[in-house]
Amino acid sequence: MTTPCRDQPLPAFAELTAAQARGHACVSCGTLIGPGAVYRGVVFGHEGGLLLDADVWACGPSEGGP
Ligand SMILES: [Zn+2]
Repeated sequence: MTTPCRDQPLPAFAELTAAQARGHACVSCGTLIGPGAVYRGVVFGHEGGLLLDADVWACGPSEGGP
């Protein structure tokens, strides 16, 4: 049994791709998100003393697995 993208733990900010950090790609599998995407919240990170945050999304129930 595979855990759906929307139920997987959020990665660290440093692990996000640019597309994931911008909310264009699933935070778990990296697939471009579609209409059924599920909002997962905000991932925070630091870079050069700046606080960064990214709104991340995951595949919806009809995509990326069971
Ligand atoms: Zn996914």
